[in-house]
Order: sequence, then structure tokens, then C-alpha cells
Amino acid sequence: MNEKPDIRHLNFDQLQNWVLENQLPKFRAQQIYDWLWLKNVASFDAMTNLPKTLRQQLAEHFEIKKIQTQIIQISKDKTIKCAMKLFDNNVVESVLIPTQTRATACVSSQVGCSLDCKFCATAQLERKRNLDYQEIYQQVYFIKELAKEKYHLNLTNIVYMGMGEPLLNYNNVMKSIEMITSSDGLGMSPQRITVSTSGIAKMIVKMADEQVKFNLALSLHSAIEEKRQQIMSISKSNTLDMLSNALNYFYEKTGIRPTLEYIMLYEFNDSIKDAEALVQFCKKVKSKVNLIEYNPIDHSPFQRTTKERLQNFTDYLQKKNIIVTVRRSRGQDIDAACGQLVNKNLLFAN
Ligand code: SAH
Repeated sequence: MNEKPDIRHLNFDQLQNWVLENQLPKFRAQQIYDWLWLKNVASFDAMTNLPKTLRQQLAEHFEIKKIQTQIIQISKDKTIKCAMKLFDNNVVESVLIPTQTRATACVSSQVGCSLDCKFCATAQLERKRNLDYQEIYQQVYFIKELAKEKYHLNLTNIVYMGMGEPLLNYNNVMKSIEMITSSDGLGMSPQRITVSTSGIAKMIVKMADEQVKFNLALSLHSAIEEKRQQIMSISKSNTLDMLSNALNYFYEKTGIRPTLEYIMLYEFNDSIKDAEALVQFCKKVKSKVNLIEYNPIDHSPFQRTTKERLQNFTDYLQKKNIIVTVRRSRGQDIDAACGQLVNKNLLFAN
């Protein structure tokens, strides 16, 4: 098979150079670019304002790497889980989470995951590869269209909380955000985007140095070192001290207050002693806390905390003036909730 380059791997300047080298009028570059990003077409034939000869010429030189999308399940709470089959037959999942007024896209950044967080279903999958930036972009595009079609909602938020660790696929994640926020792409505000990380200190510092404008969430889950190491082995090389320093630096450079995500695991990290440790951590780091209901997964020893323990924990944090919200689980009945993405239903015929 002769491999042609994916045309979406050309940036605008490179595309324009190609247009000029082929003695075509300069404005063709913008037309092609619009078809690729604004309209996200899947074939050169769909570029209807280009002459047929140019469409053929493009097809001879380039490929448009297609993603096949499929709705897997729709939850009672209207959350929709989708599968995206990539050009090499790998499958990732993306989720549309609607409310009355908002629609959030939860997107994947890797096929599988190399981390082994004990509470997360994706961790049970082998990491096969990083997604490239256009594959991430296409997930967002698809969810945006779906929100409009199914619920008449505009896409308001994007969270990098699907499969994979975004900061281990740094360049593609950054480039996808560049296209999502560009007026040549989806034109969304970076303030509507949140990148969630298991906590890779040096990459948080890198984002700070680049003065990114989107939100950052750290999956903390315990502010007690040994406990955190028990459930997230990445924390052995990224200690709480390293992370608090990195987050402070991030805040200093960007002015953005990071979110600390904290899954409430029954009788593991949900006692008042745990809350106390969390308060101490919050005293060091300008942040806000998001308490997350645990979504049960297969082969995991954990259980969801009780209403009462959650309330006590929340009250304790509030008494200590910590900004805290509780994230209720969505899409649980269809395994589309956080940490439940594991490609259970592969519907694509190969
Ligand atoms: N690797 C990144 C992004 C993927 S996880 C990260 O670790 O942040 C996105 C969010 O889902 C994280 O806060 C993660 O800790 C949470 N999560 C994972 N498994 C979960 C589960 N079983 N129940 C609830 N939340 C979970």
C-alpha cells in the first residue's frame, strides 16, 4: 500500500506552499483549509467549490484519514457514549454530556493508557499509541454535531478526561487545542477547555511556561503520599511536593486556579483525617476541589462512599474555607462515566 500523507498534517503555511508550488491561485489554500477544519469533510470530492481537476490532484498527493463514528449507547440521563474507529482500526471512546443549557465533550487522548491507576477501567487496557491532533479534533467535532442534532445544544465545554493521559501526548493535545480554539477551526474559548492529568510535574511546568489559557485539573485522590502511591504508581516519581510546586508555578504564570479532582473511595480516602490532609495540601496550592462520585468498575476493590461520609467530608472542607463542588456521576448506566471507558461494546464490523 503506498502511503500518502494525511493532508491535515499540513499547517496552513505548508498547505499554501503546496498550492503555490503547483501554480494554483493562492486563495485555494484557504478554501481547502476551511473544508478540512471548519467543515471537517471526509473526502476531497466533498470540496464542492474546488475544480474537479484540483480535487483529483489533491487525492493523488494526499489522504484524508477518516474516523468512523458510532453511537454506542444513550444513558437515561441523556449522556451519549460514542466509539471512534481510527484509520488503523483502533477504537477510542468519546462522550457527550448534556445538561439543560450546556453540552460537554469528553475526549480521549491515547488508545488505551500506560498508567495503572487502580480505580480506572482504562488502566486495564494496554496503551497502543498516542492519538494525533486531528483525531482529537475530530472527536470534538463529532460530539459538537451530535449535541446540535440530538439536543439542540451548542457545545460549551471540552474535557480531556477520556482514555489516556493527555500530558504523555503533549504535542498532539496542545495542537488539538490550538485548532479547537482557532477561528479556522471551532473558534472555542480556551476557558471552556479542561485538561485533566494524573500529575506529571514537569509537564505542568512546561504548560505554565507556555502560558496556556485553558483549565488544568489534577487527579489527586489522596493528599497522603503513601495512600496516593498505593492507587497511582505515577505518583512515586511525581510526589505531592513536586506537584504542589508545579501547580503553584502554573497559577503564578497563567493566573488559572487548578482544580483538584478527588474520587471518594469508601473507607479508603473519605475519612476526616483524609479531609484534613487535603486541607493542608490546599493551603499550599491555590486551587479548588472537585469531589467525584466513584463509578464502580470491574476488577477493582473500591466502593462508592456513602451519602453521609460525602457530606461530612464536604462540610469539613467548607468549614476550612476550601472551594468545593461535588461532581455527580453521569452516564453510569452505560459505562460512559469517568474511568469507565474500556471499549466494552465494539460494534464495528472489521
Ligand atoms: N489521565 C487523566 C485523564 C483521564 S481520567 C487523569 O488521570 O486525570 C479523568 C478523570 O476521571 C480523572 O479525574 C480520574 O481520576 C477520574 N476517574 C478515573 N476512574 C474513575 C472512576 N472509576 N470513577 C470516577 N472517576 C474516575
